[in-house]
Amino acid sequence: MEEPYIPLCQPFIGGNEASLVQECFETSWISSAGPAVTKFQAEFASYIGSEGAVPVASGTSALHLALIVAGVGPDQEVITSNITFVAPVNAIRYTGAWPVLIDASPSDWQMDVQKLDDFLHSGCAYESGVLRNKATGRIIKAILPVHILGHSVNIVRIVELARKFDLLVIEDASESLGARFGDQLVGTFGDAGCFSFNGNKLMTTGAGGMLISKNPEWIERAGHLSQQAKVGTAEYDHDEIGYNYRMSNLHAALGLGQLAQLDQFIESKRTSAGVYIDLLSEFLPPNAIMSEAAGTKSSYWLYTALFGDRSREIIQKLSQHNIGARPIWRPMHQLSYLKDAYCHNSDFSDRFFREAISLPSSVGITSDEIHRVVRVLASFF
Ligand SMILES: *Cc1c(COP(=O)(O)O)cnc(C)c1O
Repeated sequence: MEEPYIPLCQPFIGGNEASLVQECFETSWISSAGPAVTKFQAEFASYIGSEGAVPVASGTSALHLALIVAGVGPDQEVITSNITFVAPVNAIRYTGAWPVLIDASPSDWQMDVQKLDDFLHSGCAYESGVLRNKATGRIIKAILPVHILGHSVNIVRIVELARKFDLLVIEDASESLGARFGDQLVGTFGDAGCFSFNGNKLMTTGAGGMLISKNPEWIERAGHLSQQAKVGTAEYDHDEIGYNYRMSNLHAALGLGQLAQLDQFIESKRTSAGVYIDLLSEFLPPNAIMSEAAGTKSSYWLYTALFGDRSREIIQKLSQHNIGARPIWRPMHQLSYLKDAYCHNSDFSDRFFREAISLPSSVGITSDEIHRVVRVLASFF
């Protein structure tokens, strides 16, 4: 008899999402403006503790707008994480800038701050407020650290380094909504923070994103750009290249229902991660198991661990047992369209890609299901 399917990570619709969306139909507020958008923006901003927030169509569009308002442009460079989903790197390329790829650290799997420090001090030349990559000659404008898998990068150290070299910081917190460094939520440390509400993220609007910033001018301009840079209301005047990056009222209504459950979602993910950690510790070494770095609190979006060189075989075996699992993203320096991007060092990224497996992590996954997953994993060790 076939065992029931355990998905990798599916949305959890457990609140009043349906009635909130139904309300949009009843009031005809279904498109790119409406009360739910306004409310979702305000409630999300208040949850995060940010004054300014721009609701947008996706996390990728939030990143694109953040880079534009930060003044990133053609042939400049933005330092980012080599281990990431491709979205932030695409956003950097949209502006005509290039990514500088920094390896992940073996200790927390996030951007390696020692290697970042190394690159800034020995790979760059800093003169009268301008930082230049010695290898490419390009001007470096910003650091875009990606908080991956529900964890936090060492954002305090990154911001310190950025200030020292006059760089802006744009945090990609798409995967780590609700995670903290110290007591503070990730996404709120930098000059701007970006979030995604795609279907597989901690909470979803179906598709959507949010840009936050302490800088009111950035918020104002990003909002303007997200609406085709339209001036006034009547006469179709537009004052620069704009984008159709708005979040629709339907999506925002779904988001309101989800946001109300966010703290429960985080608790559920943390409980599941605890079960994985207990069970995996019986046969994996400590450095193969994803746990929280000291002083951080994770939202454990997608539970991931290192399974050695047989990871692809293990994924196949999980699939035969009707269990969804997948490798981590191919490191950015291995993508053919990025071969002209500067990669500082990729020692750990290559190993991480070979060995990492993301395991079923839906909100509401049961302890029995996790035991079923781990039994298959344990048979390899
Ligand atoms: C999901 C994700 C995004 C944004 O994705 P969208 O699908 O555009 O909302 C950005 N960065 C990272 C690291 C992600 O995982």
